[in-house]
Amino acid sequence: MHGIITNIQRFSLHDGPGIRTTVFLKGCNLRCFWCHNPEDMNPQPEIQFFPERCIACAACVDACPNCAHRFEDDRHLYHRERCDACGSCIETCYAGGLVRVGEEKSVDEVMAEVRADQPFYTSSGGGVTLSGGEPLLQIDFAYAILDRCRGEGIHTAIETAANFTWERVAAILPVVDLIMMDIKLMDSARHRQATGAPNERILANAARLGYEPQPIIVRTPIIPGVNDNVDEVCAIAEFVAHMPNLCYYELLPYHPMAQSKYMSLGLSYKAQPLATPSTAQMVELADAARECGVPVRVG
Ligand code: SF4
Ligand code: SF4
Repeated sequence: MHGIITNIQRFSLHDGPGIRTTVFLKGCNLRCFWCHNPEDMNPQPEIQFFPERCIACAACVDACPNCAHRFEDDRHLYHRERCDACGSCIETCYAGGLVRVGEEKSVDEVMAEVRADQPFYTSSGGGVTLSGGEPLLQIDFAYAILDRCRGEGIHTAIETAANFTWERVAAILPVVDLIMMDIKLMDSARHRQATGAPNERILANAARLGYEPQPIIVRTPIIPGVNDNVDEVCAIAEFVAHMPNLCYYELLPYHPMAQSKYMSLGLSYKAQPLATPSTAQMVELADAARECGVPVRVG
């Protein structure tokens, strides 16, 4: 069994308990305009072009069978719409101006990397986390990895927005030890505006996940102008307060780290003008959420 991943991040400390290996699966069915992993949106492999690294050697022009690279007035133009991500140009680019993002890997290949850190999982209470992107888009691949981890005594976690039918969400649960789920907004129209999708089934799934045997961590990225206010955070906190298996509710401050990634993928970064919420604001939001009766952490 194979899937498409963008990265396997070892020694991860922010994707669940202990020291973890986080496997990023490519593809997402939301389009949050602040997403800091834009390379995980498109389910297919694609090419990142970093103009600032290009030394204008023109090797890629000769290498590309689809004429996706050309020079005009000494400017390197990359026609992404002609590219089928064959990778020929990358092999000729010694300057690192062209990078493939997204690689097909087998479950065995993923497990070989995951297994290398088993002593750290054991000593720290860590394990493996599937992230992305949205891991449930490649559910068979995701299931196979987590099933193998379980079989080898490795703790498993999944980060999901649960924007699927309940049947798909429920299908992964037999191999999951910890659920980490985002809730970004309670109002569906505003959710659609911010993420590209309504939130009715997300909230319905969250309500059901709250009664599953696995512990759940609910997280809200705090985005200026979207949900950085007490009313919105308290509405979510009141919703998750009813979950019997809630570990804690986590608030994650927006950080404008992704601009160069957006540019390299030919995408516009609409969140670029936004500022990171201040510590004082995060403390205020966390205190307000605590008053709704849930344990709160700030990421
Ligand atoms: S091969 Fe790399 S360095 Fe050379 S022109 Fe293409 S992108 Fe620039
Ligand atoms: S990946 Fe292949 S098709 Fe795309 S620009 Fe490079 S050589 Fe051309």
